Amino acid sequence: MPSKRSISKTGSAPTCPTCGMPVFLGLPQIGVAGLIVERPLKEIADLSGSAYADRILWAELLRAGLRRNELRACYLWKHEPKEDELKWHLLETVRYMKGVKILMFLGSEVTQPLLGYNASDVSGVWTKSDFFPKVAVMPGPNPGTLVKGTVGEMRLAITRFAERMNRIKRVRQ
Ligand SMILES: [Zn+2]
Repeated sequence: MPSKRSISKTGSAPTCPTCGMPVFLGLPQIGVAGLIVERPLKEIADLSGSAYADRILWAELLRAGLRRNELRACYLWKHEPKEDELKWHLLETVRYMKGVKILMFLGSEVTQPLLGYNASDVSGVWTKSDFFPKVAVMPGPNPGTLVKGTVGEMRLAITRFAERMNRIKRVRQ
């Protein structure tokens, strides 16, 4: 679901400052843990739970004890990827995630620009990104893989992410 905050000059629905396309900016900026997904694909049309891969992803997160209202979630690409437009989408993502302590990067379209690796090469292993110097990063596969029934890799990444998040929550209580 797009945020109510508008970045367009007209004050209507948010649009991309470069090409004018409508953009998905993410759920409200809550929590200390964030989730970055590749882009608003048809099968993950929005992060509000309407699409199939999205529903399975949130079910997997819930299975690990992570609730939707505890996670900040957005796409790296705020609209379908376009040549030479990555920079704004990247900066907007960094701005949106300001203040989080741990992040999941889901899919190679996220891990490539932010880590320099394909998701399958780094999935399930804690790492760091130059774009988020103070944040622990857990890479994982594209949620689209869940639709194909290959859940193990995602489950491992989410389990490790949830363990760390629960430690952070205990410290803060
Ligand atoms: Zn654009």
